[in-house]
Amino acid sequence: MKIAVLRERADGETRVAATPETVTKLIGLGAEVAIEAGAGELARFPDADYQTAGASVGNAAATIKGADIVLTVRRPAAAGLAGAAAGALVIGAMDPYGNEGEIAALAKAGVTAVAMEFMPRITRAQVMDILSSQANLAGYQAVIDAAGAFDRAMPMMMTAAGTVRPAKVFVMGAGVAGLQAIATAKRLGAVVTATDVRAAAGEQVESLGAKFIMTDALKDASGSGGYARELTKDEQAAQAELVAGHIAKQDIVITTALIPGRPAPKLVSRAMVESMAPGSVLVDLAAERGGNIELTQPGKTITTVNGATIIGFTNVAGRLATSASQLYSRNLVSFLETLIDKKEKVLAVNWDDELVKATVLTRDGAIVHPNIKVDVAPVVAKPAAAKAAAPAKSGATGKAAAPKKAAAAKAEIAPAAPAKTAAVAKAVGGKVKKAAPIVAPIAKAAAPKQEAAKAAAAKAAGKPAAAAKPSTAKGKK
Ligand code: NAD
Repeated sequence: MKIAVLRERADGETRVAATPETVTKLIGLGAEVAIEAGAGELARFPDADYQTAGASVGNAAATIKGADIVLTVRRPAAAGLAGAAAGALVIGAMDPYGNEGEIAALAKAGVTAVAMEFMPRITRAQVMDILSSQANLAGYQAVIDAAGAFDRAMPMMMTAAGTVRPAKVFVMGAGVAGLQAIATAKRLGAVVTATDVRAAAGEQVESLGAKFIMTDALKDASGSGGYARELTKDEQAAQAELVAGHIAKQDIVITTALIPGRPAPKLVSRAMVESMAPGSVLVDLAAERGGNIELTQPGKTITTVNGATIIGFTNVAGRLATSASQLYSRNLVSFLETLIDKKEKVLAVNWDDELVKATVLTRDGAIVHPNIKVDVAPVVAKPAAAKAAAPAKSGATGKAAAPKKAAAAKAEIAPAAPAKTAAVAKAVGGKVKKAAPIVAPIAKAAAPKQEAAKAAAAKAAGKPAAAAKPSTAKGKK
């Protein structure tokens, strides 16, 4: 039984699907593990550490050859899987909605694509929940990014030179990411408020020492499976009224609101952003799904006419590539433990298991998941090699990879192109501000500041981190 881990090909992807630690565990399950050279480079896992753990390291073709299981972070192109065993399990975040053609290509290549993000949120599968493990880190990083861009201190400081007031942080959406953002902002000493459309979130927010804000007009918009439902027009208006009054007094806003299968709800309008004081910072964790803030530009950091900063990183978990890879790869191992017969050291998939049924997208040449609608005529499953083009060249040396990371990071903070919508003159603080591009580059020395913020967070984390625990523990069953 061979498990292959390829270098991620997606732009800006820094994570890797196995670490030296999980390689040891996979070998313990009876697998032979092959890692493509450079696969862990961007997450700071050198090839030598994988070899020490017992994996072979080679080029892409050697890695994939005969693999029964391929572990990935992002959905790989079908062509990159040429050489895998017929019906090989390809396990990762498949992002199938809107990418049905790619899923059909995987079906045609004869592999069994498994979408980890479809893992049911049941007790047994908590340990395999990649959405939670990555959202938790993203919520933390959002606050660190905000602190890095914020020109003032987060905690209250009483010094001989006078008192610095604490920053006011408002978190919108108190799911996994939001609760971790609240806990992190509290640890940095901010005064934190939060909102959500699920009434149950209120108790969780308050257990972290933050104040829950919710309008009476919106009693509870819980949907199925613990997720939120989309709001009606009236509910949206009531929420907007509540938020508009509150946001004007905030220094930092972190938005995390998502609704399964829908674009991210727009919660913060241009007018709301422009009501905030200069130097305010907004981090939109929903940027990858279109954003919760009207002005967000996914993948970019911008400043608005009134001097607020909007940070729209996509793949925020990837900004903590080492931690994110560690947790993600452990999620994968936990799932694999249910797919392998440890005694016989062979794959033993129970196709009737609810975890398998929920996550398998393609099998035997066809799309088999009920939620993915593409007409693909079943084809006889053949070794992927027979169908697909040659695998991408293995060029992932440490040297090649490092500049790529720099380039990716740069792309994320690259100056925004001037928006089409030229600025409207806007009264701020009684003065009429001169018209300026609505977005302007802020690639200002963010990196050193971020380091400082990281150090501050590490220091703050020295305090009992108990607050972080109820945040995840409470919300789960
Ligand atoms: P998510 O990523 O889908 O959404 C993030 C948050 O945004 C949610 O809390 C949602 O209610 C909120 N939201 C949606 N629309 C909003 C709006 N208009 N305004 C304000 N907030 C809005 O959610 P998630 O982080 O995946 O968590 C969803 C739920 O699932 C939570 O209750 C969480 O604790 C629970 N959960 C359970 C398990 C488990 O294994 N049982 C695992 C993870 C999460």
